[in-house]
Amino acid sequence: MSKTIPVVKDIMDANAQLAAQVRAKLDEAGVLALNLMASPGAGKTSVIIRTIEALKDEIRLAAIDGDVAAIDVERIAETGIPVTQINTGGSCHLDANMLWSALPSVDLESTELLLVENVGNLICPASFPLGTHYSVVIASVPEGDDKPYKYPTMFKGADVLLLNKVDMLAYEPFDVEYFRRGVEALNPGVAFFPISCRTGEGFDAWLDWVRAAVGRAVRDDDRRGRG
Ligand code: MG
Ligand code: ZN
Repeated sequence: MSKTIPVVKDIMDANAQLAAQVRAKLDEAGVLALNLMASPGAGKTSVIIRTIEALKDEIRLAAIDGDVAAIDVERIAETGIPVTQINTGGSCHLDANMLWSALPSVDLESTELLLVENVGNLICPASFPLGTHYSVVIASVPEGDDKPYKYPTMFKGADVLLLNKVDMLAYEPFDVEYFRRGVEALNPGVAFFPISCRTGEGFDAWLDWVRAAVGRAVRDDDRRGRG
């Protein structure tokens, strides 16, 4: 057992190094990148599509999709924004090397916001930073209110938490207060947006968060340009 520990550490060090390279390349081009993580079926692709539809006339967007289904990439491509698929070869998470390898397919100079859809999984994506700026975790009402208690690492590392499918709260035994207590114990004050991709409920607040984050990235880029 003790022999395996250095190997794991090497993998994590290599990932961290590549994540730093990814971040430097994104920052150089003034691109803000979000890493969207969730269980299968929580609505990663639907959040991405609704976000694109709402923002594509004001922000230059691109997407990278690492989720397993090609059908998701086709749905995103229908919005008209450039989308790149990462073939994870069956891996249950994206890593920084996969994102680094995909970046040459993205026209970074013409992109302000890059949405990265991770593989549907609440466990290991949390352990592989990609070099993106913010981790967006999406939970959903039908999955149950105990997810923060079962997957603490994922919820602890979130910069933003979306609770999707709130239109189903009337039909599901989901205790929002219990869910939030679990989240707050792990990640006090995390930005939290209850949303529904089906009805659009709650999206305005989430979109305002995205606009503000992109605005900060653009201002940083201007400062670098002047410096
Ligand atoms: Mg998907
Ligand atoms: Zn994995």
